[in-house]
This record gives sequence, C-alpha cells and structure tokens, in this order.
Amino acid sequence: MALIVQKFGGTSVGTVERIEQVAEKVKKFREAGDDIVVVVSAMSGETNRLIGLAKQIMEQPVPRELDVMVSTGEQVTIALLSMALIKRGVPAVSYTGNQVRILTDSAHTKARILSIDDANIRADLKAGRVVVVAGFQGVDEHGNITTLGRGGSDTTGVALAAALKADECQIYTDVDGVYTTDPRVVPQARRLDKITFEEMLEMASLGSKVLQIRSVEFAGKYNVPLRVLHSFQEGPGTLITLDEEESMEQPIISGIAFNRDEAKLTIRGVPDTPGVAFKILGPISAANIEVDMIVQNVSHDNTTDFTFTVHRNDYLAALEILKQTAANIGAREATGDTNIAKVSIVGVGMRSHAGVASRMFEALAKETINIQMISTSEIKVSVVIEEKYLELAVRALHTAFELDAPARQGE
Ligand code: ASP
Ligand code: MG
Repeated sequence: MALIVQKFGGTSVGTVERIEQVAEKVKKFREAGDDIVVVVSAMSGETNRLIGLAKQIMEQPVPRELDVMVSTGEQVTIALLSMALIKRGVPAVSYTGNQVRILTDSAHTKARILSIDDANIRADLKAGRVVVVAGFQGVDEHGNITTLGRGGSDTTGVALAAALKADECQIYTDVDGVYTTDPRVVPQARRLDKITFEEMLEMASLGSKVLQIRSVEFAGKYNVPLRVLHSFQEGPGTLITLDEEESMEQPIISGIAFNRDEAKLTIRGVPDTPGVAFKILGPISAANIEVDMIVQNVSHDNTTDFTFTVHRNDYLAALEILKQTAANIGAREATGDTNIAKVSIVGVGMRSHAGVASRMFEALAKETINIQMISTSEIKVSVVIEEKYLELAVRALHTAFELDAPARQGE
C-alpha cells in the first residue's frame, strides 16, 4: 500500500464533468488500496477571471486582498471534488490551506511554504478518507490567507508529498509527460520516461511550462519522486528523479528549451576601466531588473562593448537606465533589440561528454543561423539568436542530438 499525492491542474477540473472523471480516477486508486491525498487547482480560467475582477477595481490590486479573493478558486474545486467522491461512496474531506495549516511567510501573491501540519491529514487517511487539499494557498503566522504564485498548486502537491513522505507525487495535467521539446515546434518530439530534477529545473526555467519551477526545486531538495501524467489518458508519464543512470544508451542531451521572453541591450564604446561591469549593471539591478546572459567584448582602443539580456517586460525600463548610464560614463551609445530568442540544450550527459557545445554550433552553422550570445553551465548551453530562426534552430538541434530517434532507454 502506497501513499500517493495526486495533483490535478485547472484543465483537469475545468468542468463538472471533468471533476466527476477525476473522482472516478481517484476512486480506482483508492480501491486498489492506496492512501490518496488530492491537490487541486482552480477550474481553468477561474484564477484569471478573479484577477480580472480585482483589476476592474484597482490596476495594482492590494496583495493581501487579492490573495483573499484568488484563493476562492481552489476552495470551490476541493468542495466539488469531495462531493463527487462522496457521491461515489468514497469517504472524502476537503481542506483549505488554512485548515490543513500550510504555514507560509507573509509575501502575498508569492508566499513560500514554511511548514505543513500533517496531523489532520494523517488522521483522515487512517480513517480511510481521501483528503482533498486546495492548491496554491496557505496562511501566514497572523492568519492571513496567502498564495504561492501562479502555478503554485504544483508546489502544494510537492510540499505535501514531502511532509507526508509520500511514495510519489503525481502531477496530472493536459500533456502526457515531459517532452524533449515543444511538440508544436517539433512534431517528432518524444516523451521522456525519465529526467533528473536538475534537468527539469533547467527546462522549466528556460521556458518549458509543464511544472512550476519552485515545485521542481522543492522536489529536488526533498527528493520527492515526481511524475507528470495525462489526467485522462493511460500511460507511464515522465518520472523526475535524482538518479542519473550511467548508461551507454543515455543520450547526451535530454531536451531543448527555448523562449522568446528576453530582450538584448548593448552599450558601445565604453571606456574600459576596472568597475565597468558594475557601473553598467549596478543601476539595472538597483531597479530590480534581473539580468540573464552577459557578454563583454575584448577591448579595443581602451573601449569595449557590453551586451546583456533582460526579460522583455523590463526592456523599456532597462534601456532607459542604460541610456542614462551611457551618458554618465561617456559611452558612445546604448541600443536594444527585442527580436531575439534563446535556445538551450539541456542534459546531464554533458558532464561526461566533450564537444557538446561545438556540435550545437555546427548544427546552427549548417542552417546559417548566426549566434549572438552564448552561455554555458555544467548541464546546459544556451544561445541567443534572431527570433525568426527560433523554430528552425530548435528543429535542427533536435535532429543533431538524435532526439528524433527512440534512443532513450525505458525506466
Ligand atoms: N490557480 C492558480 C493559477 O492559476 C494555481 C494553479 O493552478 O496552480 O495559477
Ligand atoms: Mg499548472
């Protein structure tokens, strides 16, 4: 008998019919003898609808009140799912974050979980009940309702699985697993049987939207086996784990991530003196703008060019600041470009294989795609290219790293 935490996302509970289907599924697991804790999101579109309401009152809703409101989305689904279970003769009980006591800090709309009181849940499981918990929400030490950031129900699921030392945390969603890349871009993309936390974290932060990044961090930290599955189709899904099997069959690259969320800024003709990077990036970070990739050119006549990327939402603000900096430090000009995209190859196999980056550059060169910036880490290589070549680049890399072929071993 296993203890399983199952999280169902918004589309999986998007209608009453689907909630009934979820109840059927949970019932089957229960009848097989497993202890089940279910975490649900709000019905699809509900959180957006609620935020929209708030914005009709004020453009920047007061965070505390916003949390009071958006947390109702999940409260509706836990009650409906519990009813659907009880109707089927499956004893069930619903809990809000506050009722479980999922204690968080007080950072409204992006709170972090501090601790989970598992006493109620354990008592219910012992009494044979399915426990249905509202995702995405908690309570701070003063009793204020908090929420965990968009997509936060994933984190609730993982955190509960960690607290309960569950055998597995299953994330049910509208895709049947984690893919080598977005199948809308590469039709030959394949579902991965397995991926490591580290790789998944890179994939998620680089643009793959299957799981909330924080939930992956959490799962890695507490070593919670995590499985992404389709809510209404049978299949093994993708298991996300710690272990990096050493296998000849193991591909070097597990996946290709990409995003169009960044913009590039360049400051030219900067007098190259110690402290230049700080002078340029200091004011950017003081404005709370996060910088991703950075390149400083070799200097030439004692001046240098400096390029970095920021999130597109921060582009205009960053450009404004950079122009000011250019004037202050006597640089020639500050310019920017939003027509860029970032493409990354990710894989723990890179650790034991040389030449991965050059293979990537070769594949891009064959398609005459110009690389504007490069950054690497132990398990990924990212490049910035012109946005219009994004899909071509992803397809070329998918083929170059043999991801189209069924190379990955089963679990
Ligand atoms: N309902 C919340 C959202 O839409 C949390 C979640 O679905 O994970 O972001
Ligand atoms: Mg989600």
